[in-house]
Amino acid sequence: AGLSGRNSYQFYTEGMNSQARQRLRLESALYRALERNEFEVYYQPQIDPASGAPLGVEALMRWNHPDRGVVGPDEFIPLLEETGLIIAAGEWVLRIACAQCRTWQDEGFPDLRVAVNISARQFLEKNFVPLLQEILKETGLEAGSLDLEITESVLMQESERLTGTLGAIALLGIHISIDDFGTGYSSLAYLKRFPVNGLKIDRSFIQGIPGNSDDMAIAFAILSLAGNLGLRVTAEGVETEAQLGLLNTWRCPQLQGYLFARPMPADSFPPWAMKALA
Ligand code: C2E
Ligand code: CA
Ligand code: CA
Ligand code: CA
Repeated sequence: AGLSGRNSYQFYTEGMNSQARQRLRLESALYRALERNEFEVYYQPQIDPASGAPLGVEALMRWNHPDRGVVGPDEFIPLLEETGLIIAAGEWVLRIACAQCRTWQDEGFPDLRVAVNISARQFLEKNFVPLLQEILKETGLEAGSLDLEITESVLMQESERLTGTLGAIALLGIHISIDDFGTGYSSLAYLKRFPVNGLKIDRSFIQGIPGNSDDMAIAFAILSLAGNLGLRVTAEGVETEAQLGLLNTWRCPQLQGYLFARPMPADSFPPWAMKALA
């Protein structure tokens, strides 16, 4: 009732202001969260199907919100990206994850690798390669233990920076995996053009096996393609024994999903891994 009598222009402007205010509040909350260390890195194991042992872990960000509890990245990564705070947050995740992996290597998991998600904006930032070098030096992690997960959209950029960054990363010996493979503007040409080491079959395809014949065909095709190109494939979102059975038949080399473990706080990983190895 309060709206009658107002013209639509006023209404629209007020709406935008409150939206802008809301965004500003969230933005400053995120900024404070960074300063107050409310972010935490969780780790989800990536499994060797032959032994059940963890080959690596994927670092996944969480926000321990003072009122709301643990908040997942889908709720804050887009805003971190929009505001540019992803540069600082992404740097923080890289540093924590590399240090953590090195610690676990020293504590009895010598071959453990760590995968870190890198957003397009962070990957294409001018100082990204020097930052990687600095973090590896600082944490003592070998380049070969680090896997950067980027999406197809990053590889679609036409820029000299992209080619230069990918080349420098390959030269350092850091691995690149394409995340959510098959969901973006898939152009297979970039697999040939760029130094890529791995593909992650998106969860949406894994969800459909063995019931959906299209998903079956796509997952199988990605596995054969990658095998023939010498790329390591990870199936993500493995939840059922039926999915596991098929992926084993197809010899998928690396598996990740709730069937094995959910993402967990750092403290929970060593006990989980000891059990998996026993
Ligand atoms: P992603 O890279 O595709 O990560 C996999 C997501 O699938 C994670 O969600 C993980 O918890 C979830 N997942 C793993 N196994 C299963 C399963 O069996 N079933 C189901 N239903 N889900 C599973 P999460 O942790 O909520 O992360 C969401 C997305 O946020 C990530 O998707 C990634 O794109 C982004 N993200 C997370 N951490 C970072 C970060 O540090 N930097 C950047 N740039 N992005 C991040
Ligand atoms: Ca990922
Ligand atoms: Ca993914
Ligand atoms: Ca995803």
